[in-house]
Amino acid sequence: MFDWSKHGFRVTSPYGTRQDPFNGKPTFHTGIDLVKAHKAPIFAFMGGEVVHAREGQTGTGFGNFGIVVALKDERGALHCYAHLNSCSVKVGQKVAAGQEVGKQGTTGRSTGSHLHYEVRTKSAPSFGFDCHTNPGEYLAKHLNQEKGTGNVKQKDFISKIAAAAVEDMKRTGIPASLTIAQAALESNWGESGLTTKAKNLFGIKGRGPAGSVRMLTKEYRPDGTSYQIEADFRKYNNWGESIADHSQLILNGTKDKPKRYHGVLHADYKTACYEIWRGTYATDPGYPQLLIDLIEQHGLQKYDTMGKVEQASIEVNGKKIAEGPLINGYVFAPVRTVGVALGCRVGWDGKSATIGGKPVPGCQMINGNAYAPVRAVAEAADAKVQWNGKERKVTISKKI
Ligand SMILES: [Zn+2]
Repeated sequence: MFDWSKHGFRVTSPYGTRQDPFNGKPTFHTGIDLVKAHKAPIFAFMGGEVVHAREGQTGTGFGNFGIVVALKDERGALHCYAHLNSCSVKVGQKVAAGQEVGKQGTTGRSTGSHLHYEVRTKSAPSFGFDCHTNPGEYLAKHLNQEKGTGNVKQKDFISKIAAAAVEDMKRTGIPASLTIAQAALESNWGESGLTTKAKNLFGIKGRGPAGSVRMLTKEYRPDGTSYQIEADFRKYNNWGESIADHSQLILNGTKDKPKRYHGVLHADYKTACYEIWRGTYATDPGYPQLLIDLIEQHGLQKYDTMGKVEQASIEVNGKKIAEGPLINGYVFAPVRTVGVALGCRVGWDGKSATIGGKPVPGCQMINGNAYAPVRAVAEAADAKVQWNGKERKVTISKKI
């Protein structure tokens, strides 16, 4: 069965026969009542085209439903999100699963703020009135069928950014699946205005390498209500720069809490989805599950396997002092740790490192530390290197 709690909802009244909340008589409840929080964003459980997005009128199939957003899915079934406080979409718009359709509310015949979610097997006449079906069963059946598929546009988007996300994971330990899922969600599969104008996949504000663009954006007050303001967003030359910048944000956090996202590093995808939310990248309680669903539906876990880097153990004078990643056949060693263990003076000017005043070629930043091929580090320190392939171990010792 479909698990509503994973999407941040409490079920307050299931589909089927119940006592009417207004008159106590037994009636058939044609949908399911779900509660997150008043004015919380409501995300589409399944994608579709918006065919209704306003107050439901009596006689049209949506009387007493208050503000209703209705989406027609690929099979022609209608997904009705009723009693909303407001709509976030317009008629004719194509909406992906996980995209916001409106805010939870209590408009129409309602006893308190909740979402009445109803699935109808037809969308006409009268928006398929009375053709209701069990929404949990419908989602469980059809979302499972769609696992691993996704449409052409989504596959195309994934193929465009997967390589950059994998390369980035090798350097940073940020799961590629998380990067791809967040990019898909925040950029609406590469089609948001901000992504089109500024190659900005994650909605990061400020000035970027290609300047900035001013756009209208929604902000939320502490009580959950929203307002629109203009803000400057970072502009990039390409999506690769946007992905690298997202990684910097995860690595550096914010000034007050530099490690706020560090739970993401080297984590499995489920943990990473919860950790990014716990660092308050997003406040919606349904956010982690939204990412997890995206990852599982599109099989993004495979990119985490590709981005995993084997580690070699690094010993200096017979003692293990660090681990270093094996990248393209080279073991990379942390320059400072190894230099100091060899009793050398280590210098760093923000771009390149020196050991005992000698430059170390091939430096790369990995998780905020300078790494270089272990042979280059040893050479600068006037030390020798032995490689034990069987044990994946590098031994460094001072030349005598
Ligand atoms: Zn209901």
